[in-house]
Amino acid sequence: MHRRNPTTSVIAVTVRVRLDITGVVQGVGFRPAVARIAAEHGLGGWVYNDAGSVHCEFEGPAPDVDAGVSALRHQPPPMARIDTLSVTPVSLTGATVFEIVESQTGDASRTLVPPDIAMCADCLREMRDPADRRYGHPFITCTNCGPRYTVITDLPYDRPTTTMTGFPMCDACSAEYHDPRDRRFHAQTIACADCGPRLSWPIEAAADALLSGRVVAIKGIGGFHLACRADDAAAVNMLRDRKNRPAKPFAVMVAGLASARAIAEIDEAAGVALTSPAAPIVLVPRRGTVVSDAVAPGLGDLGVMLAYSPVHHLLFDQLGDTPLIMTSANQGGSPIVYRDEDLDWIDGLADAVLTHDRPIHVPCEDSVVTIDDQGEQMPLRRSRGYAPLPILVAGSGDEVLLATGGDLKTAFVLMAGAIDGRRHAHLSSHLGDMADPRTQTCFTSTLEHLAFMTGQHPAVIACDMHPGYATTAWARRVAAGRPVLAVQHHHAHAVSLLAEHQRLGTPMIAVAFDGTGYGLDGTVWGGELLAIGDPAQFSRVGHLAPFALPGGEGAVRHPARIALDLLVRAGIDWAPDLPPVAAVGEAGLGVLRQQIPCGLGCVPTTSMGRLFDAVASLLGVCQQVSYEGQAAVELEHLARGGRDVGLDFDVDRGVLDPAPVIVGVVDGLRSGVERADLANGFHQAVIRATTLAARHCAEEAGAAVIGLTGGVFANQILLRGLRESLTRSGCEVLSHRIVACNDGGLALGQATIAAAIRATAGNRSAPCVSESPAK
Ligand SMILES: [Zn+2]
Ligand SMILES: [Zn+2]
Ligand SMILES: [Zn+2]
Repeated sequence: MHRRNPTTSVIAVTVRVRLDITGVVQGVGFRPAVARIAAEHGLGGWVYNDAGSVHCEFEGPAPDVDAGVSALRHQPPPMARIDTLSVTPVSLTGATVFEIVESQTGDASRTLVPPDIAMCADCLREMRDPADRRYGHPFITCTNCGPRYTVITDLPYDRPTTTMTGFPMCDACSAEYHDPRDRRFHAQTIACADCGPRLSWPIEAAADALLSGRVVAIKGIGGFHLACRADDAAAVNMLRDRKNRPAKPFAVMVAGLASARAIAEIDEAAGVALTSPAAPIVLVPRRGTVVSDAVAPGLGDLGVMLAYSPVHHLLFDQLGDTPLIMTSANQGGSPIVYRDEDLDWIDGLADAVLTHDRPIHVPCEDSVVTIDDQGEQMPLRRSRGYAPLPILVAGSGDEVLLATGGDLKTAFVLMAGAIDGRRHAHLSSHLGDMADPRTQTCFTSTLEHLAFMTGQHPAVIACDMHPGYATTAWARRVAAGRPVLAVQHHHAHAVSLLAEHQRLGTPMIAVAFDGTGYGLDGTVWGGELLAIGDPAQFSRVGHLAPFALPGGEGAVRHPARIALDLLVRAGIDWAPDLPPVAAVGEAGLGVLRQQIPCGLGCVPTTSMGRLFDAVASLLGVCQQVSYEGQAAVELEHLARGGRDVGLDFDVDRGVLDPAPVIVGVVDGLRSGVERADLANGFHQAVIRATTLAARHCAEEAGAAVIGLTGGVFANQILLRGLRESLTRSGCEVLSHRIVACNDGGLALGQATIAAAIRATAGNRSAPCVSESPAK
């Protein structure tokens, strides 16, 4: 039975070890993988599941056992995630055969629900093999790939508790399902053309419609996409008109890596991200002219993803290298349409529908990642392929917490009680913008589903301090006597960063730069330097010098108004040669001349996002913001082609005054300096000023770590520049790798802060904060 290892067989000692493995280890082909590893290394023993763990024992020559353990640790099945793996020596039994033992029944509530995973190479090969019985089958899956989170309806995870329950297995599928050596052993979504779901329309017809410039709604893994040719400006603009989406970039799907290389610069890190099991949308520099400019107007990057479901691959087998727009089928910030009966939500958007009869139980939108300055993946939206996998956060306390997140890019966290000093923070999929009542309905149903799947029912609710947030109102409405802790927005951003890095308790200066967050003083914060020690507390040690949003938050869509306020503060007249003056026009200027000097209808802000918007207006880059962050991303794109022109803020301890930068930009414009150089110069000025202020605050607070958090840090010039200059000055820099730097990651910080407050102070009802601005 033993494979003889020529280097070790003579003297190797026989050993037996027990392995206890937790994480995502069920429903992912873990036991067959263990059996295969045992066979490869000639080991005896057994493997079985119980309540959320896998246990196995390996017996054989010591080097072979070591190799088996190492193989399991380093090459687990693709969908598995090992959180803990303990190895304990046990007594020999003389076993030479390896067995898969029936699962031990028990409480399955601790089982982690796997995310949805892109089609694997084995299934793709079989689907394209005319000799295979699943040739051309649009619902081919195995234990290594396919939908999970979006099809599981109940526990324990088994076929009747998935949306495949309406498709009884045929004999051939059943034989594979029950064979421990088969790749489809206990693959709950197993199907074939004889017993599986069916498409509503032939793939060839859908491909023809797409090729002829039509918009087709396609049911995928987590919902419907709207698809059309990305290389056809007329098709793209038709979709823009129908969606009333004038400028926000669309994601593009291509057949595979080679097709991606034809439309974008794909370096090694981007290639790894694109082909990873989560198959996210990856932001990459665009290349060539195949993809229409209308896909991402005014931007240098494209959001690219590879075909990830069998239906996508079958479509691209017809389309070849033609790139497709694949955008969530919804209107504005509404949730994605995922049920056929809701297709009327997108009435008039698509010319045709390609659907199927495998129900989607919960929706899940595509994830978005960018590659940061260190070649690491930085999530901008953590959803399909990741949700609902928990993030491990250090902490104590038994209470289950819910954190409701923010109002844009909403995602909540359900945080379990601590086990061995760690908590599971289950971050939901991306839900959309809570201003839409359908998003609120989706929020409630997704929470109910996740609470049920994890067996975690919240005793405490954390939310943002903003009195106008729908997520805050929701928390208060459903509290029913449970404590509701309101957490300051930037405090939550900062602690989300510490939590994901397992660095809670490390003194840190958080540079929290974003668009909008409700400040302790009721104004709009967003250019904040916070000192954090105990995660339950923060002090505001620096910020951008305040300016005004004339007309309140409505100014977000009209950055020229903000630019005009900054011009006044910098002592510059509103001369007609300046782009924001021209953009506002005489009538608007008349109103603002009344408003700005007396502050009537003006909301004070320290928002770095709004400063970026104002400078974009000043440089004539963007005067109408139709999607969040538009002016700032267009400014970043312009700056990439420019060089530093030596603009600078006035920095007084922790406070950054932009007046001299505004003066410098206006002088530059009037003396004919290239706009790209002024855009770059502005970025470099932010980097220098932030470095100075953060270092000052770090010295005062005795902190050696600087954290970069908030939506502004999707800006790669800023992230790279700040990391370089802060590292050069001896600081350690943390940036996001697991949750989004934007409000999609907010809930992790809220939950962690609430847990810390509850653990240290019992029933204290509000976070302890202090404000000590430097001037
Ligand atoms: Zn597969
Ligand atoms: Zn079948
Ligand atoms: Zn924020």
